[in-house]
Amino acid sequence: MSSKYLLTIILIGTITFSCKQSEEKNKTVDLTAEQELIFPKGQKITNNNFVGNAWVEMLVLADSVNRNSVGSVTFEPGARTNWHLHPNGQIILSLDGVGYYQEQGSEKKILRKGDVVKCPANTPHWHGASPDTEFIQVAITSRVDGPTEWFEAVTDEEYMK
Ligand code: MN
Repeated sequence: MSSKYLLTIILIGTITFSCKQSEEKNKTVDLTAEQELIFPKGQKITNNNFVGNAWVEMLVLADSVNRNSVGSVTFEPGARTNWHLHPNGQIILSLDGVGYYQEQGSEKKILRKGDVVKCPANTPHWHGASPDTEFIQVAITSRVDGPTEWFEAVTDEEYMK
């Protein structure tokens, strides 16, 4: 093999590799693109317990043996739950985006991918997306002592504070 031929092969290889790298850099992150999702986005939530648009995919339904329900919720930017409480608390696993979580009487927390919240029992709180970035969370909710109790909507003032 001539050294000129070898040099050409190396050169083509280098150019191809560089192009691939810049393609990766330019890729924008679309959380809703199906290939980026861990769980399906699910069904749009149509009840009055939310402000803005949110979707839920139920992953596990509670039964008499394992009394936890598990759902993946996607909040579009600005969307959030109303104030509510869970009789046995709730665990929130942050999958993607930027979200908010606030318990009554405490500062609002910012949630990012990988953040985990253990919401205490019977504690009014709300959760949702930040104003500019959607938020995807998995909520694990024990149903031992009954369903979620829903309260008033989170006002814009509370949400932005
Ligand atoms: Mn909750």
